[in-house]
Amino acid sequence: MLQKFVEAGYEAVSFEEKADIYVINTCTVTNMSDKKSRQIIRRAKCKNKNSIIAAVGCYAQVAKKDLENIPEIDLVLGTNEKNNIVKYIEEYIEEKKDVEEISDVMNQKEFLDFGSITYTEKTRAVIKVQDGCDRFCSYCIIPYARGRVRSRRIESIVNEIEKIVNKGIKEVVITGIHVASYGKDFKDGTSLIDLLEAINQIDRLERIRLSSIEPTIITKEFLERLVKLNKVCEHFHLSLQSGCDQTLKRMNRRYSTSDFEKCTELLRKAYPNVALTTDVIVGFPGETEEEFNKTYNFLDKIKFYQMHIFKYSQRKGTKAAEMENQVLPQIKEERSKKLINLSEKNEIEFLNKFINKELSVLFEQTEGEYCVGHTSNYLRVGVKNIKDLKSLENTIRNVNVQKIEKDILIGSLK
Ligand code: SF4
Repeated sequence: MLQKFVEAGYEAVSFEEKADIYVINTCTVTNMSDKKSRQIIRRAKCKNKNSIIAAVGCYAQVAKKDLENIPEIDLVLGTNEKNNIVKYIEEYIEEKKDVEEISDVMNQKEFLDFGSITYTEKTRAVIKVQDGCDRFCSYCIIPYARGRVRSRRIESIVNEIEKIVNKGIKEVVITGIHVASYGKDFKDGTSLIDLLEAINQIDRLERIRLSSIEPTIITKEFLERLVKLNKVCEHFHLSLQSGCDQTLKRMNRRYSTSDFEKCTELLRKAYPNVALTTDVIVGFPGETEEEFNKTYNFLDKIKFYQMHIFKYSQRKGTKAAEMENQVLPQIKEERSKKLINLSEKNEIEFLNKFINKELSVLFEQTEGEYCVGHTSNYLRVGVKNIKDLKSLENTIRNVNVQKIEKDILIGSLK
């Protein structure tokens, strides 16, 4: 959206500055994000009483009534309307009457392609390949805000990556709302692996990193094709959410812990140095001590490199928000702490495996006396005592790892 304004001749300023137009790209993933969106809308108006305020995106999509009651807002635009943001603002300026455009995202059948965007990053770029989700997990509002699965055409994705590789970017992160569903809507058998094969052929691209994927996509057939792609990083973020089958059922997740475990075994066999990371929700409605212990033990067995622990938060408009036996905040807090401790222990164990090893590192930026980057399996590695540290940025170099400092591996250039 910012790029569209700039292309139309507008000047972009930071949010903290006084502007004529404020566009708030709202988030609605939790009740708290709704609240934050409302607060930021009011903050914008305080900066300039005469400014135009547009509330855009997911919160507008699912709860336009909430926003209609906020007098500071001039335009309310849904997720599909972002593409035409400049047109809506200019119509408002001409006609001076409030605009409300929220198309039915559930009926949107095609991926809204913004085309190539200008990146400010030098090393790694995030590429959106699909939108929407058909899974309807019981705690999640996203399918209502983003609609059904819509995938971006392979040619458009390849085209964008070729452009940014020409500008020097070496790594792309493939992202979407539910990346594992990529291609489902084309109904011609195209799937994520076809897309990855096409991306892998792009000259001078060094790495392809997958963002969060649902574990069920990891099958023998998928892996047989995946291991042939030399640019795919040995790092997989598999959203688990719970290590207890009863809880998974209430969450409406469509796999069991044993399905999940099989995926991790397949991945570890295919990629011996693979880093597996995950998300876990604690305190989901009805989660008993016994259920939580099952999760704890499962996580202890799988040993992820990193885990993102979320305390369940009730999201209005979802099934889980209406479930009985909501868990008390202090219990969520205790469970969260236990899992964070486990996560820290596993992380150190994993990092220790790489001491005295030679690793290939894509250096990203200089931080104080270090230049820091990531390995293919997402270990953070730093080197120091180099004459021109900055010259390492955006290069791939081999490093002999000597020790761990906090959560970072320290070594010297080979
Ligand atoms: S798969 Fe992810 S985005 Fe889709 S409903 Fe579940 S949690 Fe939400």
